[in-house]
Parts: sequence; structure tokens; C-alpha cells
Amino acid sequence: MIQISTKSVEETQRLGAELARIVCAGDLILLCGDLGAGKTSFTQGFGEALGVVSPITSPTFTLANCYEGDLTINHLDVYRLTHIEETRDLGLHELVDDQSVTLIEWGDVIIGALPSGYIEIRFNLGETSDEREIHIQISGSEWEDRLEVIKGIKERLC
Ligand code: ADP
Ligand code: MG
Repeated sequence: MIQISTKSVEETQRLGAELARIVCAGDLILLCGDLGAGKTSFTQGFGEALGVVSPITSPTFTLANCYEGDLTINHLDVYRLTHIEETRDLGLHELVDDQSVTLIEWGDVIIGALPSGYIEIRFNLGETSDEREIHIQISGSEWEDRLEVIKGIKERLC
């Protein structure tokens, strides 16, 4: 597991931007942690780095937003799903294709319905209101080759 601390919302956005540089079509990114932890902020930096010009906002009520950048970005928030069966309606398996990258806020809640290869980014509140402790881990082989690069991101952010 890789641990990264950020000291401001901008730094969390920068982390998103750095990760966007190594993302590939077909990737799945799970964003976990409580409300206000920084999941949407991360996605804003991520999308901006991929050339998304429209504002990236929380998909809490729309469930899924789609942005066009260098890649198609699917941004989901499954917080309001009460049953894992509802994920069927999201058409997840069609979304996670080799044309786009998919980020799912609260993705851990529907883990059983997801493909096995993903990166999980968990946001925890830090000691002060502007600090976050971020834990990154991977599942499956898709991200293995990129782990060292992610460790390098940590060095650059500090
Ligand atoms: P979530 O999507 O997890 O509910 P948001 O990204 O919408 O969270 O909100 C995070 C809030 O916390 C924003 O208001 C942001 O300005 C604030 N914040 C303060 N410090 C940080 C930090 N280090 N990283 C991310 N957000 C931070
Ligand atoms: Mg959010």
C-alpha cells in the first residue's frame, strides 16, 4: 500500500492530475472515504489534466457523468445505491470498456459487482481540516507495472 498525505485541496487535485498521466483506457479507479474527504476534488484534477474543460461536479444525484478529454471519463457516485442489484442499471460492464476510464466514488460499496482489476484510492481526514491521508492499493495485474511510478508521484508531491 502507498500512503500519501496532502495538505490542501489543490494538492489532492495535483495527485489526481499526476495519476491521469499514467492512466490507460479501460482502467477502473475506486475512490473511497467519507463525504467531504476529497473524492470529487481528486477527480477534478484528474479530468483537468486530461483536457476536460467543463466543470467536474459531484455526480451524487445524477449517479453518472461523462466527460470528453484525451480519454472518455466516466465519473460515478454510487453512494445512493441501496442495493448492489441497482448497479445493473448503471450498465457498469458496458462503461468499463477499452475506450474510457471509469472513476467510482464509494466504489468499495459495490465491490462485488466490479471487475477485479482496479486501483483503490482511499481518502481519510487528517489532523487539520486541510489535511488528508490517502491510501492507494491495487487489485489485479493491470496496475502492477505502474506501482513504482505512483511511488514517484508521492515524492514529487512532497
Ligand atoms: P467527496 O467527493 O469525498 O465528498 P469533495 O472533494 O467534494 O469530497 O470535498 C472535499 C472538501 O474538502 C472540499 O470542500 C475541499 O475544499 C476540502 N478540502 C480541504 N482540504 C482538502 C484536501 N487536502 N484534499 C481534498 N479536499 C480538501
Ligand atoms: Mg463526491
